[in-house]
Amino acid sequence: MGERSGAGPAMRGDPSAATNGGTADRVILHVDMDAFFASVEVLDDPSLAGLPVIVGGSGRRGVVAACTYEARRFGVHSAMPSSVARRLCPAAVFVDGRYHRYVEESAKLHAIFESVTPLVEGISLDEAFLDVTGSQQLLGDGPSIAAAIRRRVVDDLGLTCSVGVGRSKLMAKLASKVAKPKATASGIEPGAGVVVVPGDEELAFLHPLPIRALWGVGPVTGRRLNALGVQTVGEIAALPPRTLERYLGAAAGAHLAALSRGEDLRPVVADHAAKSIGHEETFASDLWNRDDLRRHLLRMVDASATNLRGSRLAARTITVKLRFADFSLITRSHSMAAPVDASQAIGAVAAALLDSVELAQGVRLLGVSLSGFADPEVGTQLSLDLGGDGADRNDVRPGPGHPGATGRGPDHDGVAAGGPSRLEGPDAEDRLARAHEEAERLQESWGSVTTAIDAIRARYGGTSVGPASLVGSGGPGIRRRGEAQWGPAAPNPPESDGESRGTL
Ligand SMILES: [Mg+2]
Repeated sequence: MGERSGAGPAMRGDPSAATNGGTADRVILHVDMDAFFASVEVLDDPSLAGLPVIVGGSGRRGVVAACTYEARRFGVHSAMPSSVARRLCPAAVFVDGRYHRYVEESAKLHAIFESVTPLVEGISLDEAFLDVTGSQQLLGDGPSIAAAIRRRVVDDLGLTCSVGVGRSKLMAKLASKVAKPKATASGIEPGAGVVVVPGDEELAFLHPLPIRALWGVGPVTGRRLNALGVQTVGEIAALPPRTLERYLGAAAGAHLAALSRGEDLRPVVADHAAKSIGHEETFASDLWNRDDLRRHLLRMVDASATNLRGSRLAARTITVKLRFADFSLITRSHSMAAPVDASQAIGAVAAALLDSVELAQGVRLLGVSLSGFADPEVGTQLSLDLGGDGADRNDVRPGPGHPGATGRGPDHDGVAAGGPSRLEGPDAEDRLARAHEEAERLQESWGSVTTAIDAIRARYGGTSVGPASLVGSGGPGIRRRGEAQWGPAAPNPPESDGESRGTL
C-alpha cells in the first residue's frame, strides 16, 4: 500500500471497542467504489481516461460488467447486453475484464476497512458495510470516518469511492448511492462523496425515493406495486399493511412495509472469509443438450472444488445457476448434512440439481457455487449466509462468489422468490435424495484420494489428472476467470482501435 498523504484521523480500530448491540445509536457506513472495474482499467491504462470505457464481453452475446461515467452518459449501464451498449455508444472502448486485478485492488480496499473496524461485511469486491459504532471514540464520528476512508482510498488505490452514513444498512446503502457522481447527457456531475442520513431525517430522505430503491423491489414486485398506483417509498408506507401482504405475500409484504418505514435492524455481520466459491460461464451459443450441460457443469464443479480444497474449506451448500435464452435466471440449491469437498460428491449433487430443471429453452449461462463453509478438519460452521439481500442492480457481479448470487428465483426478484429451491418433475425430490446419499458415500471414498490428486495437480499442472468423465479433448481444464465471465469476446472486437471515441 502507498503512503498516506492525507491528514485524516488515524485509521486504527480497536476490536475490543466494537459494539453491535443496540440499534438506535448505531453508525453504519456503506462504502461503494465508483465504476470499480472500469476505474481499475483506466488506472492501469491512463490513455483511457475521459473515454467511454466498457468492461465486459465485446462479442455478440457479451454483457456489460461495468462502465465509466463517460459511457453512462450515453445510457450504458451494467448488465446491459453489449450489443445494446454498442448501439447506444458506438465509440465505446470495450475492455476484457481482468478479474485478478480487481481482486488485487479489492484486497487493498478491504485492508483499509479492516483498519477502521473489525465489523466489515463485504458485499462484493468493491462494496462493504462497516459498523463503526465502536470506532468513533478513536477515529471521530461517522462522517469523519467516512471522509477519512475516501481520502485513504484515493491515496492507497488511486480510485474513488462513495460512502453513505446512517443508523441502518438500509440508510447507509441508499445514502452511498446519492453520494455517487451522476452522468447525464449534458455532463458528469461529481458526487458529494459522503452523504449522511441523520436519525431524525430518515423518513424525509427515504419517502420521496422511487420504490425500486428498496431492497427486494425488483422488476416484478415493482410492476405489481406500480399497478396499485404506488411509485414512491412513502406511498408504500402509506398503504394499509394488509394490502401489501395480499399483493406480495405475508413475509415479503411485512418486510417491505418495515423497510418503507425505515425499519432495518439487520446487523453488520463480519466476514473474514469468502462466502462462496464457484464458477460460471456464458456459452458462445445456447446449449440444449442435457449431456453437454452436465459435462460443463462437472468441469466447473471440479475447478471450484479444487479451489475450495486449496482454501482448506469444505462446503455444505451446492448451488447450480442457469440463465436461459430469454435472460431469465434460476438457481437450485441443496445443503448436505456434513460439509463436502470431493469433486465427485459435489458433482453428484450438482448433476441432480441440473436434472431437476426443465430445459424448455436453451441455456445461455451455467454456473455452480459452493457455500456454507466449514473447516474440514474442525468441522465448524464458518458461514451459512446465503442471504439474497444487498442486491445491487447497478453492478454485475464478477461471478457466483458473492452472497447475493444464490437463493434468488426465476424473476431475479429477491423478495418475491427468495425461498427454498423449487424442484420440478415428479421424482426430482427422490433423485436429489439419492444424489445426497451417493454424495455422502463418494465423499467418504474420495476424500483422501482427492488430496493426492491435488498434490499431483499442484506439481504437474491443473489438467494432468481428472475424473475420466470430465476429460474432453482439451482435458478438464477450466478457463481463467474473466475469459468467459461476461461472454466470449468478439473474434475481432470492433471499435477497439481508439479512432472514433466518444462524443455525444
Ligand atoms: Mg460499485
